[in-house]
Amino acid sequence: MRLLIQGGTIVNEGRSYKGSVVVEDDCIAEIWENGQAPRGNYDKTVDATGCFVLPGVIDEHVHFREPGLTGKATIESESRAAAFGGVTSFLDMPNTNPQTTTAGALSQKMLIAQRDSHVNYGFFYGATNLNIDSFRTLDPRAIPGIKLFMGASTGNMLVDNRQALEDVFALAAELGLPVMAHCEDSGVINANMAAAKAKYGDDPDISHHWEIRSEEACWRSSSLAVELSLKHGTRLHIAHVTTARELSLLDDAAVRRLVTMEACPAHLYFTKEDYLAKGALIKCNPSIKTEADRAALRRGLTDGRIYAVGTDHAPHLLSQKQGGCARAVSGMPMIQFSLVTMLELVDEGVLSIEQLVELMAHHPATLFRISHRGFLRRGFKADIVVVRPGNPWTVTEENIQSKCAWSPMQGHEYRWQVVHTFCNGCQVLDNGMLNGNFRGEALAFR
Ligand SMILES: [Zn+2]
Repeated sequence: MRLLIQGGTIVNEGRSYKGSVVVEDDCIAEIWENGQAPRGNYDKTVDATGCFVLPGVIDEHVHFREPGLTGKATIESESRAAAFGGVTSFLDMPNTNPQTTTAGALSQKMLIAQRDSHVNYGFFYGATNLNIDSFRTLDPRAIPGIKLFMGASTGNMLVDNRQALEDVFALAAELGLPVMAHCEDSGVINANMAAAKAKYGDDPDISHHWEIRSEEACWRSSSLAVELSLKHGTRLHIAHVTTARELSLLDDAAVRRLVTMEACPAHLYFTKEDYLAKGALIKCNPSIKTEADRAALRRGLTDGRIYAVGTDHAPHLLSQKQGGCARAVSGMPMIQFSLVTMLELVDEGVLSIEQLVELMAHHPATLFRISHRGFLRRGFKADIVVVRPGNPWTVTEENIQSKCAWSPMQGHEYRWQVVHTFCNGCQVLDNGMLNGNFRGEALAFR
């Protein structure tokens, strides 16, 4: 099968240029620049005139809820949303049921994904207070890294024992695996919640979420994670950073050698003022914070402090998103709209489209040692997304693919549209139509 994608603007490795991509079977065979006419015969030609051709997005942070929480979402439903969003690979988190904290649970997830996933997949292995010995049985080429919850969230997997934390960082360093950490201090959060309940009643209004899941809670936990990373020489990726103060941890050159930070579209897009209109739909952990924090995160996209953008795609049923700080659950779906949301920030001048490609494709591939993906290069897997600007459309319940059937972006009009998604050379999305027969493959980690 030979496929030609021609006429578009290719964005890859810091440059944008008019060109064509030739795909042979599942790999990129050639990239032609500036009007060079590719010769030969093709089984299919895709006209990308007026479009941008990017490496497929690698979403390094998703919660697809399977196994165990399939009322909220499944690998099938959320990987479908991924394909519609231009995401060709995802890295899923271990807080499912059973938790991905044993080799058996990991292979169970791999089997489900092999059967059901519309795009490529990888699964983090979860740390607990008690399972550190099992790390040695893991094949580092089969997992992106270790996920560590230094702060409780959905599906409680909190590692709060100091010795266990030391052991996780030490062993991950020894095995050459990065640690991806959710950093929020439970002590600070619990004290804030108790104080808020005393003042506002049992279910404080959602507008207080950012004060309960506070800057201080993030700072304390992120600082501890950085301290452990330096002590043990462990590669640390701090998930969903939300505050300007945490970004200042990267002022230290020794920290920058070991520590990277992730930002999520929700924290780059919303501020605490949006609780008024969106309510608990935008309740997530860590919380959405102030406008000054959002401004610092946005600057981080271009000054190198934010190394990657992942969604923390975390669907819940709409019925579970009712109530305030205590009652509503935390998390929101985002994977279908992450690329178009970030392209909107490109239009606003927050970052360049070349930087977007680094944050959403190149860097996740580099950080997690993903083999032959994340870049448009000869011999790499043909994971490609074609996006069109100037084609307004609105998010409605009808076009939401996630099983939960709601989105914090509902009613929003986007200017960019994901037109085609190619996964391993196969066109999984063709002008908004899904090829439901295609199945992705397991990512390999170098
Ligand atoms: Zn998460």
